[in-house]
Amino acid sequence: MPVFFDAHCHMMNLSHPNLTAMIKRTFKDTMPKWVLMLFDKVNTFNVVIKIIIWLLLFLPLLFMTILLALLSLIIIPFLIIPASRKAIFGKFREKVANIMNLLAVMETDIGDCMIQLEEELRKIYDSKGGLTLNEGNRVKVYDKIVMTPLIMDFGLKNYQNSKSPYKVRWKPIVAQVEDLCLGIRDYYRYRADYIKPAGNPPPPLFEIHPFMGLNTRNYQLKSFPPGDGRPSFLEDLLDKNFSDFENDTTPEIRYRKLSERDWSEFNGNIESIGSHDFAGIKVYPPLGFNPWPEQEEYDNEEEWRQEWQKVCYLYDFCIKHNIPVTAHCSDGGFLVDKKYRNYSSPQKWAKVLGFVVKQEDREVEIYKRLRLNLGHFGGAGRDDWRDKVAELALAYENVYTDISYQGVDEKIYGKMKQFLDRFSAAERKVLTEKIIFGSDFMINLQDIETYGKYLEYFANTDAFTLDEKHLLCHVNAMRYLYFA
Ligand SMILES: [Zn+2]
Repeated sequence: MPVFFDAHCHMMNLSHPNLTAMIKRTFKDTMPKWVLMLFDKVNTFNVVIKIIIWLLLFLPLLFMTILLALLSLIIIPFLIIPASRKAIFGKFREKVANIMNLLAVMETDIGDCMIQLEEELRKIYDSKGGLTLNEGNRVKVYDKIVMTPLIMDFGLKNYQNSKSPYKVRWKPIVAQVEDLCLGIRDYYRYRADYIKPAGNPPPPLFEIHPFMGLNTRNYQLKSFPPGDGRPSFLEDLLDKNFSDFENDTTPEIRYRKLSERDWSEFNGNIESIGSHDFAGIKVYPPLGFNPWPEQEEYDNEEEWRQEWQKVCYLYDFCIKHNIPVTAHCSDGGFLVDKKYRNYSSPQKWAKVLGFVVKQEDREVEIYKRLRLNLGHFGGAGRDDWRDKVAELALAYENVYTDISYQGVDEKIYGKMKQFLDRFSAAERKVLTEKIIFGSDFMINLQDIETYGKYLEYFANTDAFTLDEKHLLCHVNAMRYLYFA
């Protein structure tokens, strides 16, 4: 039976995201810039001027209060009519319920989270023989799901900007790696206590191959002059986790070596993690990873040069070792600084892939073979980004895109079909061989109740034929991961 791939999901717990940075960001986003500037200014004035300013502010405040009172007069009738009240509160309640569900799944042990997913899916699919995709009366059944949880490097270098006495100074990726690996181990070790028949359950539903999170900003190259703090070297990280990928001369070798890892035997020691424990690398531009540092983006020329050298080192290494790289590519996400928004743009990747070096009188695009997945297909709200992602997937052999998070809305698949139908038959064919299924679980729980529901939307949509669905959830993912 074929294997179903979810090539974009996350398994994290509450200690992983940089919560302080995100709360600060949210606060700053909701406040207009002039208010923040005014706050800063007012702090420098003496008391008398402060009082005068507050008096002046009092008048607009009074005006606002009257306006608000008038506004509530308009809203109150809606709250009295039961139908509209239900609509307003229903939406609110659903949002709160989703957030509580997301918090629960982040608070429980990662292994337990996986076990709960298996329990849920077995209830839906065991009677059908496995995860079932439909097209009219035809079905395709999958008895195993490969998940590639993507770790995100939340470590932040700009803690100096924080005014709190204590700061988030380092958030080592190893702690996250440890939690995830222990979670995977616990899934295999303890599922027999929960999955029926208890004590003797069927073989595991999930096969898990994590992606290492990496932000080059948080690392140094050994050739750089020493800086302050504890240095972490990019060379060491890549060597430790991927050096042996070089010997995977065929996709079969890669898949076999990754599958040989018996996670139930993981001893909890992070030092024992090495090559073939991770299937690829995840980069996350909203947290400050810049795929292609350009001089005008940096005040300091040396900083720009170093950032650029690091990404070049990364791409060289990934091409040489055939490592798949998944990049977040939509303008949403955990955006910790507005100036990082553009880092997510597919235009940045166009610069990487199209970078030309002169070699013996010939101009060569040295990174055009990068094995790259541009996540979220550019995002639902950015048609220009989606167009660019499609353009890159058509132009470069190893560029893919995934549709993670998009499927929280079941109508999205119809819209995607419309998008694909705009292309010529030949281009449409190439594109359907470049799109990969992904859920963005657990982040997607902000907008959908369960993992099972997300899979159901995909399984039941009539926007794609059964063969197209099989491309998205199996064939394309296998090729991207260098499993086939
Ligand atoms: Zn994601």
